[in-house]
Amino acid sequence: MQLPLGPDPRSDALARIHAALIAAFGRIIRPDDKRRDPVWVLVQGVIGAQSKTAVSNASTDAVKARYGSWEAVADADLGELEELLRNQTFPSVAAERLRACFRAIRDDRGSVDLRHLSNLPDAMAMDWLEALPGVGRKNAAGVLNTSTFRRRALVIDGHHRRVMQRTGLIPPKADTARAYDTLMPLLPEDWSAEDIDEHHLLVKSLGQTHCRPTAPRCAGCPIRGECRYAAQQPEGMP
Ligand code: SF4
Repeated sequence: MQLPLGPDPRSDALARIHAALIAAFGRIIRPDDKRRDPVWVLVQGVIGAQSKTAVSNASTDAVKARYGSWEAVADADLGELEELLRNQTFPSVAAERLRACFRAIRDDRGSVDLRHLSNLPDAMAMDWLEALPGVGRKNAAGVLNTSTFRRRALVIDGHHRRVMQRTGLIPPKADTARAYDTLMPLLPEDWSAEDIDEHHLLVKSLGQTHCRPTAPRCAGCPIRGECRYAAQQPEGMP
């Protein structure tokens, strides 16, 4: 007879990490007025490769202001779109991806509109978004979680992935998709979309302050007790 499996202890570890990060950094709750419409979040991600968030935010607002509607962006002149996106790190790539993405949405839905995702289960909505040109796992999760959709999807950026790799909660070489597939089932069931958003923002803060890509500052790290990397360091190491 097969005994039922108990809860995964990594879920408890995530909950402890979450609490320790709140104790260290305080609450990081996205204000309602920072939740943009899902298409805005999609655009910000599609054009955002290797660009600073503030730059991509401003470019996204500039595109909306210039064309007046997302629909018009699907028919935009590529050169003009590239000029609007000139502050992005790769303006021509951003322009091509954005127009291709919008045309793919229009081909499938008849207009540049994401409202149909409200009727799809989370996993199907993620799959639909990731099938669009220029849309990866991070952007798809962002559209569902950080927009007005408020869905249960975990955004995993480079900081988040690195922290989770070092703690040992995901494999050391896990890419974003594998990290997502590993972590999503481990999120405590009672976490809302807002809790999941805050979790990402807290872990990202740790990655920006203590768990830097090189020479992580483990000595003062609030989750040191949960971290495999720290446990493997020789005594006396910071
Ligand atoms: S203990 Fe060190 S390696 Fe582990 S999460 Fe903290 S800073 Fe990163």
